[in-house]
Amino acid sequence: MRRLVIVSNRVPPVKGRGRAAAGGLAAGLSSALKAFGGLWFGWSGEVKDTQETKVTTVKQDNYTLATLHLSKENHEEYYNGFANRALWPLCHYRPNLVAYDRSFSVGYYRVNSLFAEAILPLLEADDTVWVQDYHLIPLGAELKRLGARQKIGFFMHIPWPASELVVTLPEHRALVRSMFSYDVVGFQTDRDVQSFLDYVIREADGTLDPDGRVTCFGQTICVRAFPIGIDAKSIAALAVQPEAHEHAVRLVDSLAGRQLIIGVDRLDYSKGIDRRFSAYAKLLVRYPEHKAKVSFLQIAPPSRMDVSAYRAMRRELERLLGRINGEFADYDWVPLRYVNKTYNHMALAGLYRTAQVAFVTPLRDGMNLVAKEYVAAQDPENPGVLILSRFAGAARQLREALIVNPFDEQSMVDALHRGLSMPLEERKSRWRSLMTNVEEHDIGRWRDSFLGALTEA
Ligand code: UDP
Repeated sequence: MRRLVIVSNRVPPVKGRGRAAAGGLAAGLSSALKAFGGLWFGWSGEVKDTQETKVTTVKQDNYTLATLHLSKENHEEYYNGFANRALWPLCHYRPNLVAYDRSFSVGYYRVNSLFAEAILPLLEADDTVWVQDYHLIPLGAELKRLGARQKIGFFMHIPWPASELVVTLPEHRALVRSMFSYDVVGFQTDRDVQSFLDYVIREADGTLDPDGRVTCFGQTICVRAFPIGIDAKSIAALAVQPEAHEHAVRLVDSLAGRQLIIGVDRLDYSKGIDRRFSAYAKLLVRYPEHKAKVSFLQIAPPSRMDVSAYRAMRRELERLLGRINGEFADYDWVPLRYVNKTYNHMALAGLYRTAQVAFVTPLRDGMNLVAKEYVAAQDPENPGVLILSRFAGAARQLREALIVNPFDEQSMVDALHRGLSMPLEERKSRWRSLMTNVEEHDIGRWRDSFLGALTEA
């Protein structure tokens, strides 16, 4: 493969300007382009009154960042509308939160074709194009329609839901049909692949070929799971840096000998933070020996505050926070610390290493990188315990975590008690298996296996 072209909704910030985004996508892709060079194309993050088609390019490391801004209308319909009000809740099994409007899908297709028109002149004949995530599902079909002959792959970072949910989307068939313009379609887990195949076979009369490829809408493509990983070595190395240690020391000092439970999530309803707060409060009632002996730190940088469901969730969390601290706090103990701030990986690594328990309980999550980062940041001689929702993609790999069902409060309460009380030997043995998995299935393996499949396709 000569040059790699990555296309995603957002691109990483130009060095020295702006902060890294809090999403898993940015963290996952920067290492891929450094290895190959080429181009990263996406929305600049700017919203202007009118839609211009001028692409801005900046050289960064050994690749070019190419961006377009969006008009207010495109931002509202494509991004806030179809991507974040329709696809996101649907793919996270929250059809009650889907706010569907025909203008959203019109805007979604309009921006995908705008992107395709902007990218086409930047492509070289032997480029390999890798399209990222649910914002850009029809992009490959648009590129092919305009005459692109390059190999194009697509990776879906979020879950692919059950067919019964997919069909609630009015344009489900056109959307899935467009996915058959790619050479490779990748999902996070075998469950997502199964759900996708179920749709293809039952709803669209597709067939599974003996060689494992899938034929539908007159096209044959490769569909596979490529579970995304983290740069485990670099997180482990960060966790022992003096700067990470300083964050850890500040936190430890503030704990006054108490144990720490940590949660780190974008403020998103899919993360199940409200149920997590309630389970923690129940822990203090059911297992009163933890009262004043533990603190729970929830880091939750706000996201998508343009969408009303996110604002409502934020208010609900603030209400719960007030209730729990009001009920349980003492003059020298705040049981629940809630921080709407973004921390960099250096700080997070130090905080992860300080926490006896990571409480990672999404109601639905494509993968969940925080779970893997927590494992990578632990002290091998005194590792903490990972509590992980069975509905995170990561639970398919991290089987030695304490796996819980976030809809079953009792299972979360018992796991918290067990995690806080777990003997050192059991912690070490669970952590060793978890760490082996996180190291083996790291970001490099994800990138290489996807690009390998795309080269072979
Ligand atoms: N993150 C961060 N700073 C924060 C909170 C989160 O850098 O204050 C990062 C976190 O370390 C992880 C990513 O954001 O790399 C979140 O990825 P995940 O897969 O857990 O969830 P997503 O936000 O993609 O749904």
